[in-house]
Amino acid sequence: LDRDRKAGPVHAILTSPQGRPFTQADARRLSRLPHLFIICGHYRGVDARVEAEMDESLSIGDYVLTGGEIPAAVMIDAVARLVPGVVGDDASVQEDTFQQDLVDAPQYTRPAALRGRDVPAVLLSGDHQAIVSWRRQASLSMTFERRPDLLTKARLTTEDRRFLRAVAGEATRGLDR
Ligand code: SAM
Repeated sequence: LDRDRKAGPVHAILTSPQGRPFTQADARRLSRLPHLFIICGHYRGVDARVEAEMDESLSIGDYVLTGGEIPAAVMIDAVARLVPGVVGDDASVQEDTFQQDLVDAPQYTRPAALRGRDVPAVLLSGDHQAIVSWRRQASLSMTFERRPDLLTKARLTTEDRRFLRAVAGEATRGLDR
């Protein structure tokens, strides 16, 4: 490993089911580094002495794949799309699930009505502030429903907390019915 490259240090990663689970926070951290070097194991894995030379070992989930190529491709994709300019709309990347420890708000496109399901009227209103507010609240309530574990890490405003208390109250009332 040539760790003294002129262009910056090389960060070495071993793909391993025994590694720390790879998360969006890792993708953000790795996207700021100049060079990544990823080792893909095969068969029983790699020599334990190689692991000792690595900066870290990362796993993409609690299952065993045949080789490290797919885990490496997963990491490269998650990291690359956070490098400015890779995805056309950097702002939309910031709203993606996990970026702010929330799930993304639902997405809609044309047509406005489809098999009796309408695009929410506010999204067609042209009122930018109302749309931002609706998307934030949709993201909060969907996180509450689908991944409440994320809410303990998310940075929430007083307004967000007030909204979530109302959502939680609704959900609790539903249990009594
Ligand atoms: N004997 C190893 C064990 O039980 O920990 C599994 C070796 S696996 C068949 C071969 C290679 O696939 C590993 O060295 C690693 O590079 C890669 N691999 C498999 N599952 C992985 C996962 N969940 N995350 C990251 N890499 C994985």
